[in-house]
Amino acid sequence: MNAGSHYCYTGKDEYEEMEIENEIVNLQDDTLTDPFGLPLQQQPQQQIPVPYGQPQLQSLFGQPQQQQQQQQQQQQQQQPFLFGQPQQQQQRIYFGQQPQYNPFAQPQPQPQPQYLFGKPQQQRVAQKEKKLVKKANTNILNINLGTLSNEPTIATGDPLHCKGCDVIYSHINNFTEIKNADGSTSKNIATGGGVKDGVWTCEFCGEPTPFNLHDQEIPKSNIIDYVIEPAPITKNNNNNFNQNTPTVEVNQDSSLVVFCLDISGSMQRTYNLPQPVYHHGAKSKSFDISRLQCVQYGIESQLEALAKDFPNRRVAIIAFNANVLIIGDGTQKPITISGDDLHNAEKLIAHGAQHTLNKPITKTRSMLLKKVLAMYADGNTALGPAIAVAVGMTAAVPGSTIVVATDGLSNAGIGSLEGWKSLESAKFYNEIGEIAKKNGTTVSVLTIKGTDTKLEQIGQLAEMTNGTVDIVDPLKIKEEFKAALELPILATHCSIKVRLHRGLYISDPLAPTVNQSSISKEVGNVNRETIIAFDYGTIPDRVIDESLKSLPFQLQITYTTLKGMKCLRVMTMTQETTKEQKLAEEHAKIEEIGINMVQNSSKTAATGDYNKSRAQNMQSANMMKRIVHQQQQQMQSPVINQQQQQYFQQQQQSAQVWLQQAQTLETTLTTNIQKESFNSNLSEEDRYRQRQSQRNDETATMLFNMKQMNSRKARNNDKSVVLSIFSIIDIWRSIQSNIISLSSLFVDYSNCGCLVTSVIDGSEQKVDVPLDEQENINLYSGKKEFSSITKLVYAIQMERFNILLNPDHAPGVIKE
Ligand SMILES: [Zn+2]
Repeated sequence: MNAGSHYCYTGKDEYEEMEIENEIVNLQDDTLTDPFGLPLQQQPQQQIPVPYGQPQLQSLFGQPQQQQQQQQQQQQQQQPFLFGQPQQQQQRIYFGQQPQYNPFAQPQPQPQPQYLFGKPQQQRVAQKEKKLVKKANTNILNINLGTLSNEPTIATGDPLHCKGCDVIYSHINNFTEIKNADGSTSKNIATGGGVKDGVWTCEFCGEPTPFNLHDQEIPKSNIIDYVIEPAPITKNNNNNFNQNTPTVEVNQDSSLVVFCLDISGSMQRTYNLPQPVYHHGAKSKSFDISRLQCVQYGIESQLEALAKDFPNRRVAIIAFNANVLIIGDGTQKPITISGDDLHNAEKLIAHGAQHTLNKPITKTRSMLLKKVLAMYADGNTALGPAIAVAVGMTAAVPGSTIVVATDGLSNAGIGSLEGWKSLESAKFYNEIGEIAKKNGTTVSVLTIKGTDTKLEQIGQLAEMTNGTVDIVDPLKIKEEFKAALELPILATHCSIKVRLHRGLYISDPLAPTVNQSSISKEVGNVNRETIIAFDYGTIPDRVIDESLKSLPFQLQITYTTLKGMKCLRVMTMTQETTKEQKLAEEHAKIEEIGINMVQNSSKTAATGDYNKSRAQNMQSANMMKRIVHQQQQQMQSPVINQQQQQYFQQQQQSAQVWLQQAQTLETTLTTNIQKESFNSNLSEEDRYRQRQSQRNDETATMLFNMKQMNSRKARNNDKSVVLSIFSIIDIWRSIQSNIISLSSLFVDYSNCGCLVTSVIDGSEQKVDVPLDEQENINLYSGKKEFSSITKLVYAIQMERFNILLNPDHAPGVIKE
């Protein structure tokens, strides 16, 4: 249980009606250093003081709205439209301050056809929308389930439940120090309640319960495990570990890894390599590599790594094109499933379950590799059937992993996502996901960059089973396979219950309530990075005793270890209270606020309510900026010691990472809103549903990842930043003036083939890029290079692309 601040704020929640415009808002804090080492705004920006708690949300760059409007007007006068008049109703994106270096110094009037990309959108969503949102505060609770890997303390006897609220007696009032989930300890401040004359008065609800625990049964720690059901003795145990040890089994050596590989015709598509390589069995080196070859080499290195690191794991391959080919562990004759069977989920699962795998990877590796390298690509994509077979195969071994690699839309057999079948298929993926979750199997989905696979649908499998979703560069698939296998399951069938003091409520971001002091959630599979974010606050009509200096929190986790033992872990903590929101913010923990912000805003976005998500995002981002600025002021204080100084600096760096995540979400959602068109008669719900069903793979992947956001992911994502147009110009300027250098700037827009031609056809001004060979900048459009920033910016303006800036990206051009 990680709180957003040292203090629990016991004042009232505040709500605000926010007017959201469909414009990209800058959520990053330009007064902090940006990740590229220079401020995004080159001119010194006038710092506008943000009064505590005052919304500054409609403004574009943290400036109050009035001033901003003036600025927009000025800009409109100073910056003529670059490419003739913009299409009606298309909104401009503002570039911030007038750039010192203007890449558009001499814009030329260009003959632009009115409709470059089909007809202009007829109906647009309302440009402004009002959303009522809770004002962000530090009352958040992130449940870190990765701590299940920690050594538990086994309780003697049974838990004593409160008769009023079902809280488990924790002895919390008798601890002067409490253990945190991460192993550290902190001071405990006794809260109300306690045991007197054989009666326990509950610290949470105040109800009396007869106290009948013997001395040895009284919990000696605030983290306690109870064994609910011992592991079954014989059933399907491939390990020799002591059945009675309650430790969550991290070592899952004998579990299954099933790779589901796409060998449909589109996998023949080739890429161009910077250096020629020898392929297996080839006589000469080649500059070309196909998607299938990338996958084959990726599997080759995975088999090698698994044999080395997990010698007892059993590895199987299932390939799919128009049929499903069970290669298994390579030692048996492959089985082909085709025809009617491909439409019958039960039969497919049974096919998988029948296929037994007895040999570890060390024994099967060379045979398996031979079969993998002999695969060739053709035909359709029976993705759904292949997954069903894989789920059957892993059913008996909890902790197993399925990794799906595909480059196309599922279009054969059950789970086809083509046309009208989509709806029916959504049900299939949902059901198969439930089965996998129940079996303790994780499913991870990797799709090849530049394709459309309806990840919104297939990705749900990963979300339900706590796997990963990613769009991968085929040339980097090795690392992606590795990442998909990196997070082993710690426990299955996990569900949690969080109980707060009766004066406090706890709520799920997707079903907010303000009157329940406890919440239950089914989690399923848990890995070491599983974190679940909640909000809490005071229940409006309940009074919390003023004399209470602290309030209690309890987390109950029910889980099954990989050996089948069912346990209950109880964690209890207290938190100091304050009615001063400012005090709580001064002691806020940026990391926890960041996790909560990204998880919760992206959950809202996934439902289709983009503007509400944006409002929540802005609320939290602004709170984060406010906290960091407060801390910056504290840093000026002469009494501050070095340790505190370091702490504040860490907090600042952390804020930078999280604000960037917030910005990525904001930019992506706004970009999506600006591109969409709806029939104006559609109800709000239908609009949201349409957004979900039509979501592109990039946005779907981003939302899946953000919903499972944690500190490591946030820092990893840092490398590929979705930039809005104004940042591009700043970066371009920096490149021009040699302030920064990048190995490549990769423009990723797979959904718009016609764009390049239109851009190339128009006349444009040339901007030379001063670079030597080491600093080769490639502005790829998927097919063609942009020779100038003008073309690039134009392309973005027309279609509102996200630009993926990835300094580590190896240049690669898709060859037609
Ligand atoms: Zn109680």
